[in-house]
Amino acid sequence: IREQGGGRISSLSVESHKDLNRRSIIDKKMLTALDHRNLQVVYQPQLDIATGKVHVYEALVRWEDEELGQISPDELIPIAEENGLIHAIGAYVIEEAANLAVKLTTEKPDISISVNTSVREFSNSSQMREKLSTILEQTMCPPEKIQLEITEKFAFQAEQEKAIVNEMKALQETGIQFILDDFGTGYASFRYMQNLPISKVKIDKIFIQSLTTMPKTRQLVEGMILFGKSMGLYVIAEGVETEEQFETLKEMGVDAVQGYYIGVPMKETDI
Ligand code: C2E
Ligand code: CA
Ligand code: CA
Ligand code: CA
Repeated sequence: IREQGGGRISSLSVESHKDLNRRSIIDKKMLTALDHRNLQVVYQPQLDIATGKVHVYEALVRWEDEELGQISPDELIPIAEENGLIHAIGAYVIEEAANLAVKLTTEKPDISISVNTSVREFSNSSQMREKLSTILEQTMCPPEKIQLEITEKFAFQAEQEKAIVNEMKALQETGIQFILDDFGTGYASFRYMQNLPISKVKIDKIFIQSLTTMPKTRQLVEGMILFGKSMGLYVIAEGVETEEQFETLKEMGVDAVQGYYIGVPMKETDI
C-alpha cells in the first residue's frame, strides 16, 4: 500500500493488494484442493433444436473454499495456466466427465460431455492425446462421449499453431469432436477455420445478451449462424436466458441452445 502525496491511501492500491493476496492464496491452495478432489464439476444441458432433446452437457469446473469462498473458473484457470496445474485440472475434469458419461450410458445412451480446454494443454505435442487415451481407457469411456471445446482466441495466439492443429487432427481421428468456443470474440477467419478440425461452433453469450435489443447484434448473429452453416458446422448459441432469445435463435436456424433458459449448470446427481 503506497501513500499518496496528501497522506491519503489510494483505494486502488488497497484493492490491488487484496487481489494479489487472494491470487497468491488461490495459487498456494490449488494443489491440495486438487489432491483432495475438492474441485467440483457441474454440467449444463445443451438443447438440440431438431430433436428437442438434450444430447450434450458442458462440464464446468467449480471450487468452493472455506476461506476464499467461491472461486470462479475465470479466476482459477488463468492462475492454473501460470502455475502449471492446468494439466492436472484438465485431466481431473475429463476424468469426472468420462465417469459420468459411462454412468449415464444405460439410462441416456446418446449423451456426450463437452469439456473446456486450455491451449496450454496442447502445447506439448501428443500430451493431450496421451492424457485422453489413458483416462478413456481407465474409465472405459468411448471417445465419442467426450467433446473438447477450444476457444477462438487461444487457438489463434498459438505460435505453435501447426503443432496444435496436427494434435487436434490426430485426436479427431480417434473419434474426439472439437467445438470452437467463444465464437465471434476472436479473429477467426474463413481461411483459418477451414484448417481447424472442428465440427461445431459456439456463439459467445456476449452476442446473445443484446440479440433482441440491438438490431446490429441481430444481424451479426444471423451472419455468424449462416457462416457456420456454410462451413458445414453445427452451430450452438450459449447464454440464452429468455424465451424471446430462444425463439429468435430458433428462427435463425441455430442447431442448439444453451443457457439459463434451458437449464443452469447442475451437480452430477441432479442430471
Ligand atoms: P465458457 O466456456 O464460455 O462457459 C460459459 C459460462 O457462462 C459458464 O461460466 C456458465 O456457467 C455461464 N452461463 C451459462 N449459461 C448462462 C446464461 O444463460 N447467462 C449467463 N450470463 N451465463 C451463463 P463459468 O462456469 O463461470 O465458466 C467461465 C469460463 O471458465 C468458461 O466460459 C470457460 O472458458 C472456463 N472454464 C470453465 N470450466 C473450465 C474447465 O474445466 N477448464 C478450462 N480450461 N476452462 C474452464
Ligand atoms: Ca465452453
Ligand atoms: Ca463463452
Ligand atoms: Ca470461454
